[in-house]
Amino acid sequence: MKTHIEDKLINKNTKPTSMRILVYDFLSSQDAALSLSEIESHFDHADRTTIYRTLKTFEEKGIVHSIQENTTTKYKLCHDGCDETTHKDWHLHFYCKICKQTTCKEDISFPENVQTNFRIDEIRLFAKGICETCLESLQ
Ligand SMILES: [Zn+2]
Ligand SMILES: [Zn+2]
Ligand SMILES: [Zn+2]
Repeated sequence: MKTHIEDKLINKNTKPTSMRILVYDFLSSQDAALSLSEIESHFDHADRTTIYRTLKTFEEKGIVHSIQENTTTKYKLCHDGCDETTHKDWHLHFYCKICKQTTCKEDISFPENVQTNFRIDEIRLFAKGICETCLESLQ
């Protein structure tokens, strides 16, 4: 498990420090995107700044992408296609008003190969509504 994470980090030109491995391991076990506070509350012995720096490094190296939600930033692991030059997370991010979870909806995305005479560096697709699980419990 740990060596698998080390390889992932090395592939993204990131030195696999123990903190980075821990944060990566935790994020990979989560289905929803998490805020800094949510990630911090999982780690008893790490300070906020260290976790924040780890997330910033991950974002620069194409390991996590951030999702801006009003005043909160949430983080979710990227796929292998992202690297330190470009993020390709051009998919919908969905916020559920009931369970308050933000998830990546990879099947709804902006086409990567779209031809434009301008350069797109970042795309934000964001939707709010009620997720599958909460919809079921409403019925
Ligand atoms: Zn990405
Ligand atoms: Zn929900
Ligand atoms: Zn995403």
